[in-house]
Amino acid sequence: MTSQQMMDLTQQYILNTYGRFPVALDHGQGATLYDPEGRAYIDFTSGIGVSSLGYGCALWADAIAQQAQKLGHSSNLFYTGPAAQLAEILCRRTGMAGVFFANGGGEANEGMIKLARKYSFDRYGQGRAAIITLNNSFHGRTITTLKATGQERFHNYFFPFTEGFRYADANDLPSLEAQSGADVCAVMVELVQGEGGVLPLDQEYVRTLARICKERDWLLLVDEVQSGVGRTGSLFAFQRYGVEPDVVSFAKGIAGGLPMSGILANAKCRNVLGPGTHATTFGANPICAAAALVVQETLTDAFLQEVEEKGTYLRQGIEALNLPCFGATRGMGLMIGIEVKPGYSNGEIASKLVENGLLVLTAGDGMRLLPPLVISGEEMDAGLAIMKKVLS
Ligand SMILES: *Cc1c(COP(=O)(O)O)cnc(C)c1O
Repeated sequence: MTSQQMMDLTQQYILNTYGRFPVALDHGQGATLYDPEGRAYIDFTSGIGVSSLGYGCALWADAIAQQAQKLGHSSNLFYTGPAAQLAEILCRRTGMAGVFFANGGGEANEGMIKLARKYSFDRYGQGRAAIITLNNSFHGRTITTLKATGQERFHNYFFPFTEGFRYADANDLPSLEAQSGADVCAVMVELVQGEGGVLPLDQEYVRTLARICKERDWLLLVDEVQSGVGRTGSLFAFQRYGVEPDVVSFAKGIAGGLPMSGILANAKCRNVLGPGTHATTFGANPICAAAALVVQETLTDAFLQEVEEKGTYLRQGIEALNLPCFGATRGMGLMIGIEVKPGYSNGEIASKLVENGLLVLTAGDGMRLLPPLVISGEEMDAGLAIMKKVLS
């Protein structure tokens, strides 16, 4: 198929829910993607933080092919190997006690919310089910996770939404106090707000929040759908904050491009959801889990150190360009935000860069970069050169 054929068919037959760039993608290698006509694009997006091992990774593709030959799916009424191995590795590397596997970020967060409410119900009965989330957060597109998202513009059209969410300002303890009450069961945060604009929470705020949660028996729920699985230069961002969440959700990068997600629960929470209380047909898929095992093998401590160094390199490279449209950079590891100065539109900047062969994302009013974790120095330099040429 040509690019034009892909665009025509998509527009005719796929529901028009995305504002797409006029680019079709066919294949890739490393952090470089190609359209059907062979035009190259440097990828600073990984999809949206998904293709952590980049494209054309032979280890990943072989693991998927081998598992597909052996067993492509089984229900969760039977035992399978890859998900069990993956759960063990995730628990060992995080100190958490158990995993529930699902398929996407919103779905994982739904599970985390259900777990928090059942934990509270089991201990305290009804009427203690409110969850405090942060303004400017993003937690998903289901009816419940839209309402958990602390941005008014998402609370539209789909009424009635799920009750029981209240919003506090990030890094603001008095604002948290103002939302607290006897009806609260949990606080749910992204440690680095992703869609909201790549805004890391303050270390001190997060530590105090963790202490408050412990004192009041509120569960600390951390949404690491975007920040997890190596993105910030540690396996999970919470490990950089020195806090111990009760439940952590993960998704985007977990399987390097196949749909998989889940929640990690600590010892206090690992038995809250018993048989019959939570399930998902596709969860713990052996092919996705086999792919995720390759991601885990790749993310050694040395590799994570490189992610951190690459993030520093890219941020310094961008700041050194001194582009008129960009202000400061922020973020952690290869989760990078760039401030866009007043008078410039982040959407227009993204379009211009994409048109010139560099894929980037926006978030909030700024730019967001989530390159494959395996991106090379040459590819970062090529992306910086495009920025310089197009935006100077
Ligand atoms: C992307 C994202 C989600 C939603 O994930 P889906 O897989 O699109 O359902 C939830 N939380 C955060 C922090 C995200 O970045």
